[in-house]
Amino acid sequence: MAAEGVREIVLAGSKDRDLTKLAAYRAIGGYELLARAREMAPQALIDEFLAAGVRGRGGAGFPMGRKASFLAKGTGKPTYLTVNADESEPGTFKDREIMFRVPHRLIEGCLITAHAIESTNVFIYIRGEYLHEFEILRDALEEVHGAGLLDGVTIVLHRGAGAYICGEETGMLESLEGKRGQPRSKPPFPAVQGLYASPTLINNVETIATVPKILELGGAEYAKLGVENSAGTRVFSLSGNVVRGGNYELELGASLRSLIYDLGGGIPDGRQLKAVIPGGSSVPVLTADEVDTALDFDSMAQAGTMLGSGAVIVIDDRACMVQLGLRVAQFYMHESCGKCTPCREGTRWLVQILHAIEDGESSQDELELLLDVCDRILGKCLCPLGDAAAMPVASYVNRFREEFQRHIDEGGCPYGGASSLDHVLAPVDQHTGTPVPQEATA
Ligand code: SF4
Repeated sequence: MAAEGVREIVLAGSKDRDLTKLAAYRAIGGYELLARAREMAPQALIDEFLAAGVRGRGGAGFPMGRKASFLAKGTGKPTYLTVNADESEPGTFKDREIMFRVPHRLIEGCLITAHAIESTNVFIYIRGEYLHEFEILRDALEEVHGAGLLDGVTIVLHRGAGAYICGEETGMLESLEGKRGQPRSKPPFPAVQGLYASPTLINNVETIATVPKILELGGAEYAKLGVENSAGTRVFSLSGNVVRGGNYELELGASLRSLIYDLGGGIPDGRQLKAVIPGGSSVPVLTADEVDTALDFDSMAQAGTMLGSGAVIVIDDRACMVQLGLRVAQFYMHESCGKCTPCREGTRWLVQILHAIEDGESSQDELELLLDVCDRILGKCLCPLGDAAAMPVASYVNRFREEFQRHIDEGGCPYGGASSLDHVLAPVDQHTGTPVPQEATA
């Protein structure tokens, strides 16, 4: 069946040939746009980013051109470009595909962006578990260096050590400086005092890999892709209870239903759709009735959720929403850096209460207490991790309250365990990224 909105820009050309080698990338015009960019004034490039209206692909969705234009000038310090490749949001696996399929598109984007912000120092902070992607990027960088394309720019590939919080922009900067990866208080913002207290632009892998196309089309033409306030394409990571999971690049504004049923082949084993997490584990859930919400920033906001990291997680009718909440809360409890009390203590409370509800050891009061704890976390933490735990859990209660109530009324889980959750946010080994057998996580 035809799927709506498929449009490959970031991953273009990579499905039918190997683009990891410099010669192959050059054969499709690679690095020609870098040459064109270097003949342009830096501000002209930033004007193209602003005209394109591209919003960050990491999760927050802040306009990339505006971020670049905020960088402090005349400080006497170097300006840094840091690329966030610490892809750790559960359900998200798009940046790794960009890195292992089109590493040169990312590097070309880095070099164009570095010219735009007048930087000669680029850091790519890559998730430690992404060894394969690291090796591909390292080899690509060696080829670029050998071909003389860096032109005075240094690109450092820095491997993280497996902490989710280093995907938070200031936690990443601390880690790059060799410190414990904990978020900083803001202000000052990284555009003024970022890496080594110098002006720093931080962008996600997918955002930077989009830059060559913005230059090729011109910002105004790029802005025509997608829908108003959501320009361009996104690579959606489709997973969970769906027949054909994988990464699909679509124009923003495409149909969530079409992604799940046409591209993804629908729900396996003749089961019914129960819920969809549209932007990674940290965002509020949608019910099956909301599957016609469009995949763009504004439509998701109107539905009370977010596009987040673009990880679309499909949940079928065998899944227990209390168990799902428990799994999400356990993840964020484990990853909390402990710096602020609402997150450090609140995530533990969430886990305890959800355990009690799942095990049939809770009363009505605890359901209200669960929502109260969520409320005491939301908006009260130093970084977004606290909200990332509270928002989804609160949404599971609010949208599936009857199911939580059944656990309390019936003294335990009416599902007797949720088998389909094995495919939904399955726990993974922190170091290898591979799923952990269920008995090993008890
Ligand atoms: Fe650390 Fe959590 Fe506070 Fe973020 S919200 S700074 S992860 S304790």
